[in-house]
Amino acid sequence: MSKAIVSTLYDSDVFRMACRQFDQAADAINLPENIRDRTKYPRRCLAVALPVRREDGSVTVFEGYRVQHNLSTGPSKGGIRFHQDVTLGEVAALAMWMSWKCSLVGLPYGGAKGGVIVDPGKLSANELEHLSRRYMQEMVNFLGPHVDVPAPDVGTNEKIMGWMMDTYSNHVGHVESAVVTGKPISLGGSQGRREATGVGVAYLVKKYLEDLGIPIAKATVAIQGFGNVGSETALALAGYGARIVAVSDYTGGIHNPKGIDVRKALAYVASQKTLRDFDGGGPLSNQELLELKCTVLVPAALERVITEKNAPKLRCRVLAEAANGPTTNAADKIIERRGDIEILPDILCNSGGVVVSYFEWLQNLSNFYWSRDEVIAKLYGILDKAKDAVEYQRRKFKFSRRLAALTLGIGRVAEAKQSRGLFP
Ligand code: NAD
Repeated sequence: MSKAIVSTLYDSDVFRMACRQFDQAADAINLPENIRDRTKYPRRCLAVALPVRREDGSVTVFEGYRVQHNLSTGPSKGGIRFHQDVTLGEVAALAMWMSWKCSLVGLPYGGAKGGVIVDPGKLSANELEHLSRRYMQEMVNFLGPHVDVPAPDVGTNEKIMGWMMDTYSNHVGHVESAVVTGKPISLGGSQGRREATGVGVAYLVKKYLEDLGIPIAKATVAIQGFGNVGSETALALAGYGARIVAVSDYTGGIHNPKGIDVRKALAYVASQKTLRDFDGGGPLSNQELLELKCTVLVPAALERVITEKNAPKLRCRVLAEAANGPTTNAADKIIERRGDIEILPDILCNSGGVVVSYFEWLQNLSNFYWSRDEVIAKLYGILDKAKDAVEYQRRKFKFSRRLAALTLGIGRVAEAKQSRGLFP
């Protein structure tokens, strides 16, 4: 694909944001011009029409995508998002970030991402199953355990990964657990995968608070997004003794300065689907949550929620990016100029998910399964190493923490591409 085609195909605010991050990092490490576009733009993408028979007998055609950004260092890896606002450009940006993330934490993967334009909450269980299976059916020739390995993201979960694994296995004629990660344990899912992203976020937050000399028992935490990542981050941080003072989902938030009972909130969401009217605190809006005074602010929902409008108003000490791409380029600059907030950049902060997905894939390929303790101990080891590398890079070059993480991730992808050479 030429640069011109790629720029129009993916053009969107979020893709431009990911490209600007790349350009800044490439400039900072003087990446040679010859390797830049090859490293920056996605390798290939597939758009598919997904007809699904509805409960009333009618047929709706949904639109789905898969973008494989980098296939130079191993299969590509990245989640599948089911959300009404999915665009090809968003999927491409998320695929880019997966490449830098896998490279930063040293996994033998390139980045990818998938998405379907759908509000999964508006489908029946049967319709959701048909859509998930149809998506995988259309992707069968485009992915595989050694080509591209999906996982859950916003709006998808273990159950959906199970249907996708079953669809692929039926197609190839044998059980192929390694084709997706984030599966139910009964289908080869890894111990610790469901909670891995949140557990990783909480572990890194704990480590950075230690560096800042802030006792975690005195830390207050506000979390936007109470799905897989937000709720598991809340549970793990509460487990360390932090006080979770606010949580939210797409319906709005709950604020309780004395601390929210996270398990009670989870039980409420399990029965009611959303946090709306949860009585564990007073109401607050998502915007108010982001501007709440707290030690740690955790965006754990969608991209581009910290903007030039609210960046000057943030009142946290640590901004832990559990979501992918929550901070716009303009907001980044404002926060850097302010100098009073430590950003834990997404590609480091939420990397626990893909690390344990990697463990799941390894276990599937070897048919040898690990205990949860082994999984978590290995996860912490990788996160420690990545954090140390980022801090070293930051000090050595006087970079922001985001630039340090991006330059490490991007630099390694570019190096691999250069080592492989350009064929023909
Ligand atoms: P999820 O679907 O389980 O949860 C998403 C949560 O965000 C829900 O509570 C939803 O109500 C809330 N939300 C949606 N729109 C919102 C809005 N406009 N305002 C406030 N809240 C809103 O998704 P997830 O898997 O927890 O993913 C959350 C973020 O973490 C995404 O950015 C995703 O890319 C990133 N991430 C996920 C994983 C993973 O393993 N699932 C790994 C790394 C990063």
